[in-house]
Amino acid sequence: MQLTNQRLGQLIIVSGPSGTGKTTLARKVCDRGEAVFSVSCTTRAPRPGEVDGKDYFFLTEADFLARVERGELFEHARVHGRLYGTLKSYVYENLQRGMDVIMDIDVQGAAQVRACGDELVKRCLLDIFVMPPSIDELRSRLSGRATEDVAAFELRMLNAAAEMEHWSAYGYVLISGSREDDARRFDALLEAGRMRTSLRE
Ligand code: 5GP
Repeated sequence: MQLTNQRLGQLIIVSGPSGTGKTTLARKVCDRGEAVFSVSCTTRAPRPGEVDGKDYFFLTEADFLARVERGELFEHARVHGRLYGTLKSYVYENLQRGMDVIMDIDVQGAAQVRACGDELVKRCLLDIFVMPPSIDELRSRLSGRATEDVAAFELRMLNAAAEMEHWSAYGYVLISGSREDDARRFDALLEAGRMRTSLRE
């Protein structure tokens, strides 16, 4: 017997408080060519070293809202006081050609994707919440970044606690340990996900 059906890509949603290392996890898989990273639109300012079109599409609030109005965004939310959103066409095109897509998005965006009711999305979805080992560890990881001013840092810490209440809405949870261990477990999950029969057209 032959399996002739075309395989769809996985829609991998990775959420968790800033500073858990979720973006690094996602980027590593994409750097190896095993998935594509969904580059989001945002109205926040670029951090030093961030590149427009690679890390984010940096937009003005007016540009962002115009894209929402035109229906170009798959999901969007206000996070830490700024707008963030995913481009719909990029996600769908890649899933349909069998390429895994990773979305690094917050809990509000993840809830919108789960609720979108699209059959393709339902079949492809694999959502994981990355938990810091403790609040103290998160605080030290975030302060090590030094990319935020004090007010922005405290806002991120406050939002982290609120985000962590949503972990049980996800299919999977990864309690962050060492970088190597996190990467190993994340890769294992994606590998297992690629064997799901529900990903066939
Ligand atoms: P940062 O400003 O640190 O890059 O991201 C802040 C938060 O926004 C992170 O939790 C990140 O996952 C989330 N985020 C990034 N892109 C998107 C997006 O397109 N949609 C939503 N809903 N959240 C996003």
